[in-house]
Amino acid sequence: MTTHVFHRTPERPAIATRARGIEITDAEGKTYIDSSGGAAVSCIGHGDPRVVEAIAKQAATVEYAHTGAFTSEPAEALAERLCRSTTLPLDKVFIVGSGSEAVETAVKMARGYHLARGDEGRHRVIARRQSYHGNTLGALARGGHVARRTPFLPMMPEALLVDPCFAYRHALPGETPEAYGLRAADSLEAEILRLGPDTVSAFLAETVVGATTGAVPPVPGYFRRIREICDRYGILMISDEVMCGVNRCGPFFAIEEDGAAPDIVTLGKGMGGGYQPIAAAMCTAAVHDAYSDAGRSFVNGHTYMAHPVACAAALAVQDVIRDDGLAARVAPMGEKLRQRLESRFGNHPNVGDIRGRGLFQAIEIVADRDDKTPFAASDGMAGRIFDACRDLGLLVYPGSGTVDGIRGDHLLVAPPYNVTEAQIDTIVARLGDGVDAGL
Ligand code: PLP
Repeated sequence: MTTHVFHRTPERPAIATRARGIEITDAEGKTYIDSSGGAAVSCIGHGDPRVVEAIAKQAATVEYAHTGAFTSEPAEALAERLCRSTTLPLDKVFIVGSGSEAVETAVKMARGYHLARGDEGRHRVIARRQSYHGNTLGALARGGHVARRTPFLPMMPEALLVDPCFAYRHALPGETPEAYGLRAADSLEAEILRLGPDTVSAFLAETVVGATTGAVPPVPGYFRRIREICDRYGILMISDEVMCGVNRCGPFFAIEEDGAAPDIVTLGKGMGGGYQPIAAAMCTAAVHDAYSDAGRSFVNGHTYMAHPVACAAALAVQDVIRDDGLAARVAPMGEKLRQRLESRFGNHPNVGDIRGRGLFQAIEIVADRDDKTPFAASDGMAGRIFDACRDLGLLVYPGSGTVDGIRGDHLLVAPPYNVTEAQIDTIVARLGDGVDAGL
């Protein structure tokens, strides 16, 4: 069958014709368990009638009004809800259409903050070698996702990337997690001093790393040290929670567990739960007040920013999370998922690590579990296992990343927060069969 859609893969993928709860059905009538909601997007499951109704209602009321002239009721209500949902002192929300836009917004917001304070030299953004912050050129320029960056390197400024926090690969034998965390964080200070503190605007990091290495949480104390270093040099701390935020790891923002309050936080996927394209950058009152005190606007408009229908959908998704008590389910159901993964893969010769937080878990696939030798890129292991799982009626999120020359393959499992125990059993059983079939 011919297609005029420019697909991301050489072959046209299956056509999705129906999505309900945790399942997606294709045009051939095959039904899949959507165990990771794409890239951890689907947080309340598919097809919730409450969200569908909110979308229809808003579309019939005000489908679009330019943000230069108007705000909208759902945008105002959504921003208020997000600020109340987190324990972090975040006070303002800049609403955009995708995680990449949210990251670019955060980076520009930080630069504007320094300009407003007369600190014109501060423009550099430091990130980490293990990171993914989005696919637009500006966001890609900040991250450390080697495969996605490589074709476009000549078009991007040199990235300023410091050590990741990835204990499985980089902690030294006998080193405690805390000591490792301080060592990893201190590479930020070394880079700030190398560049000159007065030139650095912000440090950008995912709290729990998603796409490059698969659900890698920080070790205890790491982000506290990062916060100290940022404060010491007047640098803004940006937490990218596009994948791990909005209760995916339990708390509204994952970093709430790490004892460090960022100046700016990005969120995306779970914000709209897949019902509409929507994301945001949230900031503290101090960041926002720097603009207002200087009488400056934030020059960062997008045609579809704070789109009323998208905001209504995201608000309805947040209502579902609240009304169905879904946030409180994440920790216990995440624990059950983790236990099932441990019992299925704990002794598997090709599973080197099982990790994550809440309903954000991953398994790392290796050629040799004992010495952590990865598979070669040419083996395409994550893709092979993804294909095998899909044949078995399970969708997982595969990923391959290279950090400091060491590659890795992982499979991410990030089901909706209303996943049942029986569904978790089926997910892990099919994943087990898929791993064995794909190897
Ligand atoms: N930041 C993180 C941590 C992500 O995982 C992603 C997407 O996977 C992005 C940013 C970019 O989001 P989007 O694909 O919505 O542009």
